[in-house]
Amino acid sequence: MKAAVISVRLHASACLDVWQTASADCKERAELSAAVQRALTDLAALIHQESEAIKTEAPSTIDAIDKLIEEAFGRKERAIGAFYQHRGERGC
Ligand SMILES: [Zn+2]
Repeated sequence: MKAAVISVRLHASACLDVWQTASADCKERAELSAAVQRALTDLAALIHQESEAIKTEAPSTIDAIDKLIEEAFGRKERAIGAFYQHRGERGC
């Protein structure tokens, strides 16, 4: 039992090494990853903006920011979808 657990861990570690080597060489993966990061950064900034605006701003301003959050969330979903699709197709 204990040996099996160690074996699984060694296998997982070896797979991670292979994955890290393959993914480090993939330019497309790096671009897709950067797109996800940009989308998440935009989304986080807008969420922070709305959390501040809700305290003092007019309803129309809050509505406008909320609309931007919905659009940013859509961009994040598309970016992570493309990232997952690449991973599924290429394994990196
Ligand atoms: Zn790739």
